[in-house]
Amino acid sequence: MAVTNPDNAPHLRASMILVPIDTPGFNLIRPVPVMGHAGGSGHCEIRYEDCRVPAENLLGLEGAGFMIAQARLGPGRIHHCMRAIGAAERALEMMCQRAITRVAFGGPLAEKQFVQEMIATSRMEIDQARLLVLHAAWKMDTVGKKEARQEISMIKVVAANVCMSVLDRAIQVHGALGVSDDTPLARMWRDLRMLRLADGPDEVHKTVIARRELKRFAS
Ligand SMILES: Cc1cc2nc3c(=O)[nH]c(=O)nc-3n(C[C@H](O)[C@H](O)[C@H](O)COP(=O)(O)OP(=O)(O)OC[C@H]3O[C@@H](n4cnc5c(N)ncnc54)[C@H](O)[C@@H]3O)c2cc1C
Repeated sequence: MAVTNPDNAPHLRASMILVPIDTPGFNLIRPVPVMGHAGGSGHCEIRYEDCRVPAENLLGLEGAGFMIAQARLGPGRIHHCMRAIGAAERALEMMCQRAITRVAFGGPLAEKQFVQEMIATSRMEIDQARLLVLHAAWKMDTVGKKEARQEISMIKVVAANVCMSVLDRAIQVHGALGVSDDTPLARMWRDLRMLRLADGPDEVHKTVIARRELKRFAS
């Protein structure tokens, strides 16, 4: 990463250092409760008070923390997308099974056009997202992470949103059962909603996608 003047970007000089949790001054306040999971998502609120660790605990070079964090983001985002698509696929499968077995208003839900529309749209969205993720992964493998940044941002937004849309439709087709905890759908929705935020919210990715797109036309 080229940093012409680090004074203008202090975050680029951040370092990463390992802090054992039994170090004096390390205070684990709480796992942050996330969408009804009181145990939290594994992310904790921590307060450091005069907490000191030896210099050899440094990860990589001093000042390289931002680059280390960035390095994991490309593969990390692809991983998020794979989970999102897997969850969407499971939700669609459940949607179809419920539509076939549930009879309401004189026939199975599968015969209602509104339900068919939800199934068809979900199938189309999932396959579009899957192909886009495959394309981004192929670009990462063939030309590298940096060259694949646009595709990675695109799939991060697309896969997270497709996952939420398909889960929402699956809940709708299940009716009241869908919002109950008797199926995994409500829990999947709660667990995966964070994908539109973690590793960059949709809006930030869309901003950089647009910026790169506009750059192609700037004189
Ligand atoms: C479950 C979970 C796990 C996470 N794990 C990690 C982790 O392991 N490591 C890590 O570093 N971070 C992690 N994050 C943090 C995550 O990356 C941030 O929450 C995310 O980048 C949004 O930052 P913020 O929460 O400070 O919201 P803010 O920056 O306050 O943004 C709030 C909202 O404002 C809007 N917004 C913000 N900036 C812009 C902009 N430039 N243009 C337009 N709109 C904008 C967006 O709608 C955004 O959702 C995690 C978050 C969650 C929910």
